Amino acid sequence: MQTTLSTQTVKVGSVEIGGPSFTVIAGPCSVESREQFLTTALAVKKSGAQLLRGGIWKVRTSAAAFQGLGQDSYSFISDVLKETGLQLVSEIMEPRQMAEIHEFVGMYQVGARNMQNTALLKELGRQKKPVLLKRGFGSLVDEWLKAADYIHREGNPNVVLCERGIRTFETATRFTLDLNSVVYVKDRTRLPVIVDPSHAVGISALVPRLAFASAAAGADGLIVEVHSDPTKALSDGLQALTLKGFDEMMSKLGRVLKAVDRSFDGKPS
Ligand code: PEP
Ligand code: MN
Repeated sequence: MQTTLSTQTVKVGSVEIGGPSFTVIAGPCSVESREQFLTTALAVKKSGAQLLRGGIWKVRTSAAAFQGLGQDSYSFISDVLKETGLQLVSEIMEPRQMAEIHEFVGMYQVGARNMQNTALLKELGRQKKPVLLKRGFGSLVDEWLKAADYIHREGNPNVVLCERGIRTFETATRFTLDLNSVVYVKDRTRLPVIVDPSHAVGISALVPRLAFASAAAGADGLIVEVHSDPTKALSDGLQALTLKGFDEMMSKLGRVLKAVDRSFDGKPS
C-alpha cells in the first residue's frame, strides 16, 4: 500500500524537504580546508545538490582520529556558503556548540551516536532551525520516532529523519541499510525521511545503487559523502564519492525518480 499520510514538509532556506521534489544533500564527511570545502561545494552544486554537508566536529570511534577543525573553520565556511549560495547541514554533539555555529548553519544534524542524547534533543527543540535526526545504528524505529518527539515537544516541528544503516550480524559492509524503516515511516508517520547510503554501506562503489534503491523506495532525499580527493580524506574516505562519481550518480537519479513519479530539481538526465 502506498503512503496514506501526507508528509509534513521541512524548509531549509528555500529548499523544501518532504514535498513533491526529492532533495539531495552532499559534501564531505569533514570540513578539512578552505580549498577542499570550496572545490567540493562548487562541484556538488553544479551536479544538482540542493544542500551542502560538512562536519565541523567529528564523532570518531577513536579519540586519536581527526576530530574536526572546529572554530578554525568558521570564517572560511561562511565564505563558501556565500560563494555557493548553499545552506549547510552540520552535526552538533552538545548544546553549547549550537551558539557557536547558529549564525551560519542551515540545518543541525544529530548523529547516530547521539540519537538518544536527550539534553541535545531538547535544546534543538527550543529553537526553530530544522534538525536532521539520524537513526542510531542500534536503535529501533520506535526509539527513533520517540527521539524525534523530544524535539517536537519542545516546540520545533522541523525534524527530518535519516536512515543511515543499522548494525546486524553482517560484516561485509560497514552497516546494513534498512529500507524497511523508510517505507514504514513513510506509511505510518508524517515525518520526512531521507537516506544516507554512504555510512550505511561504507564502500563508495556501492553508494549509487543504494541511493537509487532509496529513491525508488520513496525516501524524500539523500545525504551523500563526496570529497574532492577521497584518497586524502581525513575521515570516511573509503565511502566518499569522487566529484565525477557524484555527478554520474545524479544523472541517473533523475531517471529513477521519474519512474516513481517524483520530481527532481537536480541534474537533468
Ligand atoms: C556523518 O554524517 O559524518 C556521521 C558521523 O554519520 P553517523 O552519525 O550516521 O555515523
Ligand atoms: Mn562520515
